[in-house]
Amino acid sequence: AQKLLEVRKLTTGFVTEKGLLKATDRISIAVDKGQTVCLVGESGSGKSVTSLAIMRLIDYAGGMILEGEIDFHGEDLAAKNQEQMREIRGNRIAMIFQDPMSSLNPVFTVGEQIAESLQLHQNKSAAEAMKSAVELLKLVGIPAPEIRAKQYPHELSGGMCQRVVIAIALACNPELLIADEPTTALDVTVQAQILDLLRKLQAELGMSILLITHDMGVAAEIADRIAVMYAGAIVEEGTVEEIFDHPSHPYTVGLLQSIPGFEGGRGGELYTIKGTIPPIGQLPSGCRFHPRCPQAMEVCRQQEPPDFMISSDHRTACWLFEDRPADADKKDGVRQ
Ligand code: SF4
Ligand code: MG
Repeated sequence: AQKLLEVRKLTTGFVTEKGLLKATDRISIAVDKGQTVCLVGESGSGKSVTSLAIMRLIDYAGGMILEGEIDFHGEDLAAKNQEQMREIRGNRIAMIFQDPMSSLNPVFTVGEQIAESLQLHQNKSAAEAMKSAVELLKLVGIPAPEIRAKQYPHELSGGMCQRVVIAIALACNPELLIADEPTTALDVTVQAQILDLLRKLQAELGMSILLITHDMGVAAEIADRIAVMYAGAIVEEGTVEEIFDHPSHPYTVGLLQSIPGFEGGRGGELYTIKGTIPPIGQLPSGCRFHPRCPQAMEVCRQQEPPDFMISSDHRTACWLFEDRPADADKKDGVRQ
């Protein structure tokens, strides 16, 4: 498969009253062309920071990239200036967020907003752009698109608005769509429809998707690969089959057990994992998960686990798998 994005050892931080605090720690993920990768974890795990860093929007949020590379088509986004990034953000990488209303302008019709994006990115005339906007509304599954195009966001349901936001993102014909909790604000039926839509668009347009979610159920629906994040680091990563059939990290196992109806699950109990994520800057010693881990051993309190290879395509940062080969690439980067 052709690599589109490869994030290597991405470490980010924020300057606070207490000094520089690390938000993510040596994150490595790769997204191939046409693939969907899900970053999964509880809120506060650093998923959104990672996506903001990839887009270099972290610079505007008071944060910074401290180390690492963001290889996009052989170009390092971490080394670009904001003017170069604006070009890439507008044309090659698009981003959608949880609340569609915050991305839409209440005083313009949805048709006008899509058309504006088309004019900006594809150099179309106003009339052409409006015609294409209607096409895009149709593509994202909005019925009676000619009529809807003339309506304002408040006249549409939340699910319809998220479809409009997706249409605006598609207007720039992105190679990569980054979607941060795109279905979290929607009710369950609409959630499923939006995931279906993303899958359909991906098949038709061949774009890659990096989807951020706290919900393993969502990841199960759409992911080719899953990266599980905890307290700023990826603790397990592999194909969706590997993660669901052979979950290795105790945190992943806990996340899976919180899926209602999942085999081995505890039936809809929202958090089977006791405790909370440590706040930024207050990482425990050793394994970052040890205070919450039901299987913690002495070594876990003292030494951070490297990535161990569960299979050639599946890694986990947990001392329980010490008998497996360590990921040579990551071993040298381990915090001592
Ligand atoms: Fe639990 Fe130890 Fe594995 Fe961390 S390294 S997840 S504390 S068993
Ligand atoms: Mg978030």
